Order: sequence, then C-alpha cells, then structure tokens
Amino acid sequence: MNMMHQHIEEDDDVDFHSFSHGLFIGGKWVEASNARQIPVADPSTEAVIAAVPDASVEDALAAVDAAAAAAEGWRQTAPRKRSEILRRCFELMTERAETLAMLISLENGKALRDARGEVAYAAEFFRWNAEEAVRIVGDYSMAPAGANRILVDYEPIGICVLITPWNFPAAMATRKIAPALAAGCTVVLKPATETPLTAYALAALYKEAGVPDGVVNVITTKSPGPVTSAMLADPRVRKLSFTGSTGVGRNLLAEASKTVISSSMELGGNAPLIVFDDADLDTAIEGAMVAKMRNAGEACTAANRLYVQSGIYDRFVAALTERMKGLVVSAGTDPASECGPMITAKAVDKIDRLVEDAVSRGAKVLCGGKKPDGVGFFYPPTVLVDVPADAEMAHEEIFGPVAPITRFETEDEVVARANDTEYGLAAYVFTKDIARGLKVSRRIEAGMIALNRGLVSDPAAPFGGVKQSGLGREGGSHGVLEFTEPKYVAVTL
Ligand code: NAD
Repeated sequence: MNMMHQHIEEDDDVDFHSFSHGLFIGGKWVEASNARQIPVADPSTEAVIAAVPDASVEDALAAVDAAAAAAEGWRQTAPRKRSEILRRCFELMTERAETLAMLISLENGKALRDARGEVAYAAEFFRWNAEEAVRIVGDYSMAPAGANRILVDYEPIGICVLITPWNFPAAMATRKIAPALAAGCTVVLKPATETPLTAYALAALYKEAGVPDGVVNVITTKSPGPVTSAMLADPRVRKLSFTGSTGVGRNLLAEASKTVISSSMELGGNAPLIVFDDADLDTAIEGAMVAKMRNAGEACTAANRLYVQSGIYDRFVAALTERMKGLVVSAGTDPASECGPMITAKAVDKIDRLVEDAVSRGAKVLCGGKKPDGVGFFYPPTVLVDVPADAEMAHEEIFGPVAPITRFETEDEVVARANDTEYGLAAYVFTKDIARGLKVSRRIEAGMIALNRGLVSDPAAPFGGVKQSGLGREGGSHGVLEFTEPKYVAVTL
C-alpha cells in the first residue's frame, strides 16, 4: 500500500489522484492489519481517485486503545489550553479553506460554492467550541431541606465513537469533534467510506494545530457494523454520536443499549416548506432555492415537500421553475457549477424511482425529471406539481434536486400535512405575518424551524430533531453538554 501522506497546505499543488494513506491512530498513519483498501471515486467522473484502508475490528480496538491512552492527559489539560488548540484548528481550516473545499468537491461532488460554505461552517464549530471550552460551568446550591449543599460538576463523558455521513464530510465531523474535545473527551471517528479523504486531511490539520496524539483517531472501514459493535462493547467507550440515516440510527441505538452507552442521534429528515399567500415572493423563492438546492438537495434539512397556498401558488411555481431550469449542472470542482452530481449511481436510481412513482400517481413534471445518460452521477434540477399525499417522496427523503410542490388552502390543513411524517428535523415557513409564523412554528413537530429563510444550521444554535429524526442536539451550548456527565456531590459543611 502506498503509505504516502500529503499535508494539505494552501500553496501546495496537491495531487489528489495519488492521495492514499493509512489509518490515523495515536497520531500516526498506520496500515490496516488486513492490508485491504477501499477505493474512493469522484462522483463527477466515476474515476477512482484514491484508496483508504479498510480497518478491521482489531484496528478499531487499537484506535480505542489510543483514545484511552490519551484520555487522562487531555482531561487534565487546562480548559484554556484546550480552547487555544481548538481556536488554532479554526484558524488553520480558515487559512486552507480553498484547498479543503476542492477536496470536498472532488470526493463528494458538491458544487465548489457549497463546499466553500461547508468549510466555513465546519471551521466555525472549532471557533464556537473554543469559546465554550472555558465556559462549562457547574452549579452550587443549597438543598431544599437545608441539610447540605448540592455541588454539580460537568465531567468529560469518556471515550467517544463518532460516526458521520458523506453529505457534509467536514462539518459533520467537526460538529462532533470540536465539542467532544472542548469537554475533555478523546474520540474515534469513523467517516463514511464514500468521503474519507476530508476526514483524514483534517486529522493531519488537528495534529498540526496541537491536538495531542491519540485525542482524535480516524478509521475507515467497509464493515461498519462489526467494527462499531466491537467498539461499543468495549467498556472504555462511553458515548456514541451518530449522524446518518434513521434506519442505521435505530440499529445503533439497539447496539448501544447492550452496554448502556449514551447516544446522540442526528438522523434523517423530511422537511416541509410552507409558503403562505402573504409571503414575500422573492424571499420565498430565495429561501426555497437554498433549502432545496444547497448541496444539490443532499442535506438532512433539505426541503422535501413544498406546500404553497392557493393565492401565491401560480406565481411561486413559475418563479421556482425558472430558477431551477437556469441552474448550471456540472462537476462540483467546476467553479461555475451550481448543482453537482449525486454521491453514487444508487442515489440517482433512488431519485429516479421516487420521481417515476410520483408521476405514476398523477404528478406533473415542469422541468427535469429524467435521468441523463453519460458519465457521472448527475440528476437534473426538477420541479413536480400536483404531487399527491400518497406519493413515496412525501414520506421518504428524496436527497436530490427535486422540488415536489403541492397546493394548500388553510393553515390547519398544511400543519396537518407537515406533521404527517415519522420525521421531525427541520421545517421552513414563509409569511410576512410574524405572529402567524411563530404560531405555525409552535404547531409544527420539528426540532428546527426557519422563518422567512432557507437556512437553519448555525454552530451557535441547537441543531437536532424530534420524533424519528433523532436524539440530542449539536451546536450551541447544548452540543458540549452531550459530551459531559454531571457529577453531583452532596456536601455537609
Ligand atoms: P448512512 O446511515 O447510510 O451512513 C452514515 C454512517 O453510518 C456512515 O459512516 C456509514 O458508514 C455508517 N454506517 C452504515 N451502516 C452502519 C452500521 N451498521 N453500523 C455502524 N455504522 C454504520 O447515511 P448516509 O447515506 O451516509 O447519509 C445520509 C443520511 O444521513 C440521510 O438520512 C440524512 O438525512 C442523514 N443526515 C442527518 C443529519 C442530521 O444532522 N440530522 C446530517 C446529515 C445527514
């Protein structure tokens, strides 16, 4: 195996096509014990661009050993020092933003402009958590009976297993690593096999920023089930933080129950986007384009169902169709791209199946709607109208550039439709009547509501879902607490 490891630096002319290296364990690049590799493809060209190791159960347990060896030292590191190292991670990511964005575009396919946005968002988790690291404050109070004092300290929870998806290769990792490190925990990250290069590039960057060896370990594997089970069965592991599909999340919760491991779950979504008659049309269109087309629709928060009230329906449909038709669809690394390819051929097939199903039930295609021939996993920006409530796409994540629009008449009707899903991650509401916007926000069963805007994610805000979209929150001051355990001491003075 080619063990070459290249540092990603701004001025380097990095040859991603020969980017290949080991697992990152204990601050070193090590070969997988089975010497097997996983090819990494560019979704725009389908060409294999790199290979990463296929970690075995033994390798994963070696990563847990490394995290355990580093745990005490990191826990005892002063919060100020931890904070400064996290701040340095933010600075290095910001300095190398363009190179990291290229790498994300290359392995994920997303348009460079989306990749740039992701790097800024991902780096911000380090800045925010550098600030949080020195503000993890406990409590001190008098017991109600007056007999003693109640002292509460927030201790690092212990070794954390972090599992991330391919759709935000940088941000989903930093959204977990930064708060875990701020809290004083050491971690093993298992990124998605489709997009491992960004996770490894960032591992090298953390080391350069001063993160001690063993505090962050990164392993890739084609056997995530057995590898994760082995780590969760290790009594030294005390936390599982997972971002991915609801199906895998359910299985992992069952697995974590065997050793009663604290679990945070950021799972799938099925976001409604609601446009009331009194909405500002331009704001609603701008918001819908971001909510639908950021990452070409490959986002858990992506608007999956668009409900538009009768009075504004025709104008909204015409304007959105115009915008969707005008998008530049090309390789993510093309600076002009506004819609890159999907992650895999399987993802395109799923979108195609969902569109065909909707059409067979009466939906009409206003643009796109047809899987193109040729190289790369592309699917065109698509607008569908008259999508019936029983269409599969009303209940499943489309995860692609397809906007299904349905007309509605009343607030009660649209709230009932919006809540008719097992998911509850994000929702979007457009209205100039803020009182109505807030009322509808309260009635919608979702962890996050965007009111008159197309973006909810913010490192300073609690990100997460209700119902089967997950458990726990990332970001804000909630994010760090997920990686702590309160320790209560009853004190008689
Ligand atoms: P996925 O569930 O297939 O995979 C996610 C991760 O889990 C990957 O690293 C994968 O290798 C790993 N994995 C798969 N099977 C596993 C197993 N049996 N044991 C342990 N790990 C396993 O999801 P995906 O296709 O990579 O990502 C898309 C999904 O992620 C969508 O459902 C999307 O909504 C969701 N997502 C949610 C959020 C959020 O914050 N709520 C953010 C991004 C993506």
